[in-house]
Amino acid sequence: MRFPRFDNAFLHDLPGDPEAGPRLRQVEGALYSRTHASPVAAPRVLAYSTEMLAALGLDPRDVTERMFSEVFAGNRLLEGMEPWAANYGGHQFGVWAGQLGDGRAISLGEAVTEDGRRWELQLKGAGPTPYSRGADGRAVLRSSIREFLCSEAMHHLGVPTTRALCLVGTGEEVVRDMFYDGHPRTEPGAIVCRMAPSFIRFGSFELPAARGDETLLRTLVDFTLQRDFPHLAGPASTRYADWFGEVCERTATMVAHWMRVGFVHGVMNTDNMSILGLTLDYGPYGWIDSFDPDWTPNTTDAHQRRYRFGQQPQVAWWNLSRLAGALAPLFDDIGPLQDGLNHYVDVYAEADRRHTAAKLGLAAYRDDDSALMHALLGLLHAADVDMTLWFRTLADFDPASPSIEPMREAFYDEAKRRANEPAMLDWLGRYAARIADDPLSSEMRRQRMHAANPRYVLRNYLAQQAIDRAEQGDYAGISALQDVLRHPYDEQPGQEAYAQRRPDWAKGRPGCSMLSCSS
Ligand code: AMP
Ligand code: MG
Repeated sequence: MRFPRFDNAFLHDLPGDPEAGPRLRQVEGALYSRTHASPVAAPRVLAYSTEMLAALGLDPRDVTERMFSEVFAGNRLLEGMEPWAANYGGHQFGVWAGQLGDGRAISLGEAVTEDGRRWELQLKGAGPTPYSRGADGRAVLRSSIREFLCSEAMHHLGVPTTRALCLVGTGEEVVRDMFYDGHPRTEPGAIVCRMAPSFIRFGSFELPAARGDETLLRTLVDFTLQRDFPHLAGPASTRYADWFGEVCERTATMVAHWMRVGFVHGVMNTDNMSILGLTLDYGPYGWIDSFDPDWTPNTTDAHQRRYRFGQQPQVAWWNLSRLAGALAPLFDDIGPLQDGLNHYVDVYAEADRRHTAAKLGLAAYRDDDSALMHALLGLLHAADVDMTLWFRTLADFDPASPSIEPMREAFYDEAKRRANEPAMLDWLGRYAARIADDPLSSEMRRQRMHAANPRYVLRNYLAQQAIDRAEQGDYAGISALQDVLRHPYDEQPGQEAYAQRRPDWAKGRPGCSMLSCSS
């Protein structure tokens, strides 16, 4: 196994904690603590991403080496690896939470490939760190499968995201009380190796700012600019403003994609917001089945529903405003920060218009198309319609004879379908008239819709089925899903089972429609 070199810039260019090791502590004046993963009993590779292996210059034969499972379980280090846990804070559910940090993630190093790309490798679930706050630093198999599968699936959907190299079973058990209701059970443990050019979060800046440590804040901003935004080489006076503007832009693009594909992050705390605008920290996330803007899979947020699907664009803005507040001491005038937040609104609105046109198969957005989309979404909600199936099969709609027949599979409830059919036919009539006014041929429209509306997403129940099998020792369900989700916009004859709407049994089942932060 030949690995790229590691340069670990985060360690070498930034101030660290003078103490090493996992003793719990408040860490002031430092952005990380050197620590080590806790070895596990029986590491076994359960799944891997060939794409991410290739990104590191590795291939599937390397995975069969014992060394591979040992390294990605945290039992051994390769030359150049220098493990650390990052220090950051965050607003959790709207409240400042102080120091959080990597409580169970341990970075192994920053690999720099021959083509100059940087990939930080991070083990999630590798044991306690100074930031574990009394928890065990471990992760269960179910949540690790979910992170592994979803981050790769999101990439193939065209959504900016962290990636996953591999999933390793630890051979050890972890105790979790899934719904925090006094029913703990033991579950198999696992570790995901995540990859991203940077794991710096909004909360990484918020912590030094909250502590009034302007020197550390400025050091981190300058480091982030140099390492992660090297293209922003303008004069110092405008560089910070340009950078904040770009963070706003990337965040807007990411959230607009979430809304396009029906992804609900579930825990948009500021410690889970990537400075690169990557989808980060896959916990109790979920996919919209029957369209409902008020839905969240996260039972921990069931009352407030702060992180519900339809509120994600507003929450991202709020999170950016926390980041702006943290950065304010570095700005003489906060005008540029306000401009950045306004830029978020504009970029989001523009992306939303683009996605509206693409989802409806229109050559270009026209002023009244948002109203058309808005009316449709209201109907999908009222009639209990599967978001993914609806938009995918809408490409088969024939404007010459408006009917809901091509979309029949998308309805969850016969009575609601019948009750809403007249209104839906009315909407289809409006849509047919809009299409008649559009220059695209029907074949071009179909292609455009197929490129914006996936056939396959990681439906909550599909992930749960793979988890159920894996908990019985059968890991084939993971690779089967991985294969299908590699080409989410293709029809893939023979794989129709993965495109079905949620079965009735999955509606109220834990893991399928209800998830907690316990992982
Ligand atoms: P999350 O909601 O998963 O982003 O986690 C919030 C914070 O709790 C982060 O600082 C995590 O590192 C920490 N955390 C979550 N689970 C564990 C665990 N099992 N052990 C230690 N820290 C954890
Ligand atoms: Mg987190």
